Amino acid sequence: MAQNVAAGAGVSTAGPARPDAPAPPDPLAAWLAPVRTVKGVGPRLEGVLARLLGLPPGIGARRLDLVWHLPYTVIDRRLGTGITEAGEGGRVTLEVLIERHEPAPEARLRPRAAPRRPYRVRCEGGLRLVFFRAARAHLEAILPEGSRRVVSGPLTRFGRDWQIVHPELILTPSEFAEHGPLQPVYPLTRGLSGRTLSRLIRRALEDLPELPEWQDRALLERRGWPSFRAALELLHKPATAADVALEGLARQRLAFDELLANQIALALVRRSATGQAGRALAGNGRLCEAVVNALPFSLTSGQENVLAAIRADMARPVRMLRLLQGDVGSGKTLVALLAMLGAVEAGAQAALMAPTEVLARQHQATLARLLAPAGIEPVLLTGHERGAGHAGRLTALGAGCSRIAVGTHALLQEDVGFADLALVVIDEQHRFGVHQRLGLAAKGRNPDLLVMTATPIPRSLVLALYGDMAVSELREKPPGRQPVRTRALALARIDRILAAVAHALDAGERLYWVCPQIGDGDPAEGGGQAAAEQRHLALRAQFGGVVGLVHGRMPGIAKDRVMAGFASGEIRLLVATTVIEVGLDVPEATVIVIEQAERFGLSQLHQLRGRVGRGPRPATCLLLYGEPLQPSARARLQVMREIDDGFRIAEEDLRLRGPGEVLGARQSGLPALRLADLRAHGALLGPARDDVRECLARDPWLGSHRGQALR
Ligand code: ADP
Ligand code: MG
Repeated sequence: MAQNVAAGAGVSTAGPARPDAPAPPDPLAAWLAPVRTVKGVGPRLEGVLARLLGLPPGIGARRLDLVWHLPYTVIDRRLGTGITEAGEGGRVTLEVLIERHEPAPEARLRPRAAPRRPYRVRCEGGLRLVFFRAARAHLEAILPEGSRRVVSGPLTRFGRDWQIVHPELILTPSEFAEHGPLQPVYPLTRGLSGRTLSRLIRRALEDLPELPEWQDRALLERRGWPSFRAALELLHKPATAADVALEGLARQRLAFDELLANQIALALVRRSATGQAGRALAGNGRLCEAVVNALPFSLTSGQENVLAAIRADMARPVRMLRLLQGDVGSGKTLVALLAMLGAVEAGAQAALMAPTEVLARQHQATLARLLAPAGIEPVLLTGHERGAGHAGRLTALGAGCSRIAVGTHALLQEDVGFADLALVVIDEQHRFGVHQRLGLAAKGRNPDLLVMTATPIPRSLVLALYGDMAVSELREKPPGRQPVRTRALALARIDRILAAVAHALDAGERLYWVCPQIGDGDPAEGGGQAAAEQRHLALRAQFGGVVGLVHGRMPGIAKDRVMAGFASGEIRLLVATTVIEVGLDVPEATVIVIEQAERFGLSQLHQLRGRVGRGPRPATCLLLYGEPLQPSARARLQVMREIDDGFRIAEEDLRLRGPGEVLGARQSGLPALRLADLRAHGALLGPARDDVRECLARDPWLGSHRGQALR
């Protein structure tokens, strides 16, 4: 059941066609065609586009994905009438007559000390185009003497001359006419220029047919909204600045589409997940008791309350769908463990899914330790297990002999089967997509679902996005914790930082040193590896064998060895990529150094900082930044210094970035809101939800709503 609905929530193209409709060529097919079908896209660009559009490896971009990549701003390239009008520093777009090329003198004819003169192209009216290190043949080809060209760029003054250094745009007048006076600016990725991207998007859009309208016509008329295709066209080929404004009709229309699609997906998920016959899981509490009695501490009252709510949910014959939010270090793992034991006591199985291998391995180790008094051994599945032992574990799960499984998304693999999976727990749920979360649930018969996150979503948004999902919060941390002292320092003062590290090592402390992700590597899988390796070498040279390294590309066993070394204190300075970002728990660690902290978002910094301050000892977080520091980065570091509460940080994050980004895929695990900005479009959310309610009541299978499948 859940599987059917999961499919329906994403691509409900399979909805029954209306019986009276003839079978026209499917316009949707053209939109869903791979980007390869766009002229000029070969295998290389296909890969670059998939990366740009954030698609997981192995999934190719479709035309729809490409045209849904929207510009974030436009550059005004309306033709100016002359130089004087623009003034120095202003950006101009001018149509000029190319008079004469003045190539740079050849190097061997220059006195050695003389500064290299640039290549210059004189235009009619005293304007010069200036190029450094330019290839003469190329410039002669694109700017033939005697031709007319439209050039654009910031205007600068050099002596008495006006010049444009490296024009941003060089087009023939007819190309310019086609190009339009407003140039959209897109988010880019390595290996792709704005110009190429812009061209590809236009081409992709050109031969896409209109789609059957899925919005209510009366609504469109009332709001003055264009069709889906026309709206995209307006954004990619704007004629006025108003066309691309957030409040513009085109964006409003698409934002409404997106919110509607999102609401439909959520409604389907909810319909599949709640109110549905679940099963009453009533444990006798014996196993839980054994585990709790063996703990060196007692549960916090927050943990007790949350557990009571979860147990009550599980005991009801209705399916549980609960979100547990708790700041880093608030003790969610234990809650998950005891909830899982409830399922085991009732004779069923439970599974815990974590977003990274490092975290899954840690959970397995923690659970194994805590479960020992109950005589239960959890099974680990990360996708890297091989051999007879692995096959045996799968069989044990399938037969129901193993009661608890811990793993990464490898738990979703087809060969993983459960005899009777009754509770699914998803840790750091914001790292997973809706489909992955439901995928695991589909391995049982309507299992209860507990999703956990340390990245709290502000209350207002929980309601908007999860609707009737039950929410629990762990606000209090275990007793004895002290706030983490946080300082920001320029990387230039590395000497002082190293002195502090030396001091901490002498005092027997354990430290993390985090290197940022660089380039396009997936942070969960070891982006930033090179930087970390370098830093590791340097620190090792200084501090010797107590320095260790962990990154995502290491084999699982090697990661285990390093993490175990850090946990035991054999390694005391652990250089790491952001693989340690979520969930890691070594309570003895007291210092975390974060390099290039200015590159991280607030939630991420808070997560990283949460690696320390997990025990009774005072802890420190050092944020190293490169200079110059952008104002927005400065503001983030400031917030980090002042606030140590994840819930308040989430609110600040919302304030500084706006919900669009906070709710990005990484944060919410929802189909990312790429376009809708809840500040500008929040008012549309209510109508979207009502509309969905009404639609689903009228047309439960969305047969007439194929268009929604687009997202
Ligand atoms: P998170 O909520 O970030 O996942 P964890 O579950 O990893 O936090 O817990 C953080 C640390 O707090 C762990 O070392 C755990 O053993 C410890 N802990 C959990 N509950 C309590 C408690 N009631 N009293 C003291 N320490 C606790
Ligand atoms: Mg955790």
